Amino acid sequence: MKHRTIIEPFKIKSVEPITLSTEEQRAEFLTKAHFNPFLLQSNQVIIDLLTDSGTSAMSADQWAGIMKGDESYAGSNSWLSMENAVKHLTGMEYVLPTHQGRAAERIIYSHLGGKGKTFISNTHFDTTRANIEYSGADALDIPIQESYNTSLIHPFKGNMDTNKLKELIQVKGAENIGAVILTVTNNSGGGQPVSMANTKEVSQICKEHDILLLLDCCRVAENAYFIKHREEGFENYTYEEIAQEMFSLVNGAAMSSKKDALVNMGGFLSLRDKEIAKECTNMLIITEGFSTYGGLSGRDMEALAIGLKEVFDPNYLHYRIRSTTYLGEKLNEMGVPVMMPIGGHAVYVDAQKLYPHIPAREYPGQALACELYLKGGIRTVEIGSVMFGKYDDDRNLITAPMELVRLAIPRRVYTQSHIEYVIETFEEILKDASSISGYEITEEPKFLRHFTAKFKPL
Ligand SMILES: *Cc1c(COP(=O)(O)O)cnc(C)c1O
Repeated sequence: MKHRTIIEPFKIKSVEPITLSTEEQRAEFLTKAHFNPFLLQSNQVIIDLLTDSGTSAMSADQWAGIMKGDESYAGSNSWLSMENAVKHLTGMEYVLPTHQGRAAERIIYSHLGGKGKTFISNTHFDTTRANIEYSGADALDIPIQESYNTSLIHPFKGNMDTNKLKELIQVKGAENIGAVILTVTNNSGGGQPVSMANTKEVSQICKEHDILLLLDCCRVAENAYFIKHREEGFENYTYEEIAQEMFSLVNGAAMSSKKDALVNMGGFLSLRDKEIAKECTNMLIITEGFSTYGGLSGRDMEALAIGLKEVFDPNYLHYRIRSTTYLGEKLNEMGVPVMMPIGGHAVYVDAQKLYPHIPAREYPGQALACELYLKGGIRTVEIGSVMFGKYDDDRNLITAPMELVRLAIPRRVYTQSHIEYVIETFEEILKDASSISGYEITEEPKFLRHFTAKFKPL
């Protein structure tokens, strides 16, 4: 059959205007925001690719669910909808609703963590690591070696290095390992998928040593898409069946529903073990809310239950993954250095390769994020030495291993012409690349400096 454009598998019922701006206006906005896109107002942005978290467009069904939300304090119908949807997907007996992913993480990792414990993951997401370290435990990342090579094509760059896992269990002692965590897809590693074979192997190793295995399942539907199309034996599975098989291999799961449940707020913790669930439920009631709503209103739970089904629609997932890939592959063809292969939810541009004349200490990623905003009104985020840079005892900057800029794609929000506009903006970015200079930081907070730091062009 002749190749056809993959269209957005939805029509637009309700629109949100974009405020357009000129380059002169944006130069003024960016100066006022101290050259940090986090400090811009959303109405100063044309295409907002800052994050895919909580930025999804809900469907007409989800909005109808919002109107049906049952706000009873205990045992509401909306809780039943959510509990059923999560149980159907995870096959786990105990479901704890939370207001977002990190609340689920705080509850489970404060219970399992503490001094002397070690947690092992393909890559801990930053809130996961923060919650583990806050408990006094250590968090170690052991992705496969291939994941460190940004241009290498590998079908499952999100996989965990199972030899290292076995070694670490020997070194640390199984009884000191709080849990092993598989993040699917691997957000911090570029949205790369984890294979079912790798999940099975990790699960087997954990079983042999009686270690808890948890899934950070924020993007489990996007991960299922990659398995169906890249891993032998899953051609005839539905996406939901693939996700269900993955859940069957683990003891628990934490989800930020702001990703693959297509809602603007929500999350959950899912568990098989009665005793752990009991302890976590106590913590839930003290810090989030009663066990039948956690941190959520009834309408949030109703929308979440519907989103968790919609996300497995084959037409949606095909459009979702292909449209992210489309952007990434077009940029790659044009000569923009991007991380390959393209992941599920975002395209990562290697700013150090794009601007080889800007040293890491002058933040080439920040320079690219500012250029994208100035030239196109496109908001992105630097993932490099601004985000991960540290100072040594003499205040010398220790730079990050890579200088990346992430273009995260909100779900069901932008159409192909928005994406074409982003691609066109990159044509100009390429043309001017050699004349762009770096930035210096003029003011910064002690922690998580990328959110509020102020910059000055050099
Ligand atoms: C977003 C995210 C979280 C944290 O969820 P929040 O809803 O932002 O608290 C945890 N893990 C991964 C992989 C994520 O992408």
